[in-house]
Amino acid sequence: MSLPSKKAIKVDENITDYQFKMLNHVMVLKYDESKCLECGFCHRVCPVTVSIYDEVYKRTAIGTPKEMGIESDKKIVVDTDKCSFCGSCTWICPGYTLELFINGEKKLLLVENGSLPEFDEEVRTLENGQKVRKVVEGSITITSTEKDTKKLDAFCDECAVSAMERKGKEIEVDRDKCILCFKCSEAAQNYDNISVEIHRDRFKNIKGDPSSVWDGIMLRVLGKEGKIKGILSRSQNKLADAVIRLLGREETEEES
Ligand code: SF4
Ligand code: SF4
Repeated sequence: MSLPSKKAIKVDENITDYQFKMLNHVMVLKYDESKCLECGFCHRVCPVTVSIYDEVYKRTAIGTPKEMGIESDKKIVVDTDKCSFCGSCTWICPGYTLELFINGEKKLLLVENGSLPEFDEEVRTLENGQKVRKVVEGSITITSTEKDTKKLDAFCDECAVSAMERKGKEIEVDRDKCILCFKCSEAAQNYDNISVEIHRDRFKNIKGDPSSVWDGIMLRVLGKEGKIKGILSRSQNKLADAVIRLLGREETEEES
């Protein structure tokens, strides 16, 4: 019997295909770095949990190099060996940066089988032509005593969806545009006079009546300060197990 193969294929300067192949069944997770907002939603929604040895440090199968503990100059890296090709990351990605293809067809089985709900999408086009959508609702408060307009402009530029604008010596956030990604709150750590508080309260406009996997996803995405909550060691990773079952597959790889 042919063994499953998993590999990363660089298609061009921006696009990488992460491929899982078994016999004539091929799944491809396509990542377009040129569209990536570095929002981190994919990392938080991924059901796979990888525990590094016995350390407290845990990660999922996708995330920024820092979140993944992997040296890379890419915005997002995928651990192809651990990825279950469930498509959860493609389902939530606000930048339409990730797509899952099953045997050449764009598919989201977890939505098709009702495990995850559909977003009632409100798509916005950025100045560069990129499409983005907002997937969660909540609040953002920026407190600034910074008076240096160059620093204020540099801080506003941290936002990938142009939700922040300097008005005189104040920063204004357009709450309709803000995708609550925590990028500015992380950037604020490098600014002495600026702080940001963000809360994600609920998912925006979803359709359908999803399964219990949804509760696990909610915990991870809406968790306080966007940190992954409820992550367990791989052997206890009920969310990943549930997702694999809902996909009608059994996990084939060895635990590490
Ligand atoms: S969810 Fe999409 S846009 Fe956000 S970091 Fe992941 S790949 Fe990039
Ligand atoms: S304002 Fe902050 S939280 Fe909102 S989209 Fe921009 S970087 Fe993300």
